[in-house]
Amino acid sequence: MTKAVCPGSFDPVTMGHLDIIERAARTFDEVVVAVMTNPRKAPLFTVEERVEMLREATQHIPNVTVTAADGLLVDFARKHGCKVIVKGLRPIQDFEYEWQMGAVNKQLDDEIETCFLMSRIEYAHLSSSIVRELAFFGCPTTGMVPPSTAQRLREKFAKPQA
Ligand code: ADP
Repeated sequence: MTKAVCPGSFDPVTMGHLDIIERAARTFDEVVVAVMTNPRKAPLFTVEERVEMLREATQHIPNVTVTAADGLLVDFARKHGCKVIVKGLRPIQDFEYEWQMGAVNKQLDDEIETCFLMSRIEYAHLSSSIVRELAFFGCPTTGMVPPSTAQRLREKFAKPQA
């Protein structure tokens, strides 16, 4: 039985993330989505909100669980018995950073493999930051994020009634 971890900040989850999680769930027996806290970034959504959004978006996938994580990813992977780290790879922009992270994680724990899934072309332009920016300007994010996430983004940036 191979268990994989899909890590990310998911602030918020996009259709690109969800596609990677769905494909990881078809490839591995069990997938743990690790919602990481990044001490260097102030998130739009709290870690609890991000976990809830991911649970809503992945409730149709029986072998996926979602949990908050902090600290080193290899420690999380070891604690949860995950032998594989699954990352999505968008053209060009992700390569350098993800390659470095993969190499560092390999040095930290040689037993854990990083597996890259190519981003689906129709989602390759999506990032959490572009989605946050669109939502900030009141632009609908339908089709870019799961429906329940689009609703939460609308609520987050709703103008208070005068
Ligand atoms: P972002 O880069 O959007 O802030 P995260 O840090 O949460 O996202 O990314 C978690 C993982 O998801 C990373 O491996 C990243 O490369 C991948 N990812 C992000 N957006 C996409 C996308 N549109 N398609 C495929 N993979 C993606």
